[in-house]
Amino acid sequence: MTELPARRLLLVHAHPDDESINNGATMARYAAEGALVTLVTCTLGEEGEVIPPGLAHLAPDREDRLGPHRAGELAAAMAELGVTDHRFLGGPGRFRDSGMMGVEQNERPGAFWNAPVDEAAPYLVEIVRETRPQVLVTYDPDGGYGHPDHIQAHRVAMRAADLAADPAYRPDLGPAHTIAKIYWNRVPRPFLEAAFARLRAEGSAFPAVADLSDVPGVVDEDRVTTEIAGDPAYAARKTAAMAAHATQVAVDGPFFALSNDLGQPILATEYYELVRGVSGAPAGERETDLFAGVSDR
Ligand SMILES: [Zn+2]
Repeated sequence: MTELPARRLLLVHAHPDDESINNGATMARYAAEGALVTLVTCTLGEEGEVIPPGLAHLAPDREDRLGPHRAGELAAAMAELGVTDHRFLGGPGRFRDSGMMGVEQNERPGAFWNAPVDEAAPYLVEIVRETRPQVLVTYDPDGGYGHPDHIQAHRVAMRAADLAADPAYRPDLGPAHTIAKIYWNRVPRPFLEAAFARLRAEGSAFPAVADLSDVPGVVDEDRVTTEIAGDPAYAARKTAAMAAHATQVAVDGPFFALSNDLGQPILATEYYELVRGVSGAPAGERETDLFAGVSDR
């Protein structure tokens, strides 16, 4: 095996754009610091709604070519973040976007939501054993907000972390590796309320403002263990990465909207809940580094 960087971060996401919205500043920081940042995206986001009218023909109910287009958007976003290792789970198109909860696309053969977890997890086990991350970032068990592909991404990520650590499981996928720390994406409610208050005060190009409940992973402050503070340079990269997902995201200054055209703040500071492993912060304080306390080099 070629020499790996000392610090290695793995992020597991459902669709292209989720990584930039949730973790763009974090990814930019660690990439700039020389860590290996590996993004695994589980679907191509084929069922997304298309914002620019000129690209509406790509939609699943028309030409159904949104998936490959979004792979291109993701590549452009990763260039903005300085991330060079991005992959699709099982290869591009192996698992298809399942659509929102309750739609008939949930049941389609090949839909990610329809795949048994133990059929999808081995693809991620192989990546874990190759890249040997100390840190894994994914969603909470609700996927942050209940989207089937986000819930499934959580299940597959957590399952793969367990399987990768078991030397008896599929030795053909590489030597066992235990991920030292696992985090779920979070947003502390008071921080989000303040960010929305700024949006309401300043106004944006979007005709209305989203609801706090539209934001995934919102929790009370005490659940948040880790804060990656918003360095302006990394926040700018995050904003550029989000804008690269042009079929899904419209950006106006420090604000953005999804296809519902409801304004939301771009969160320059990103928050996490450590759910496995030991905090590297003094008791009662938040970590400011996902790798805090990690000794494995
Ligand atoms: Zn998503």
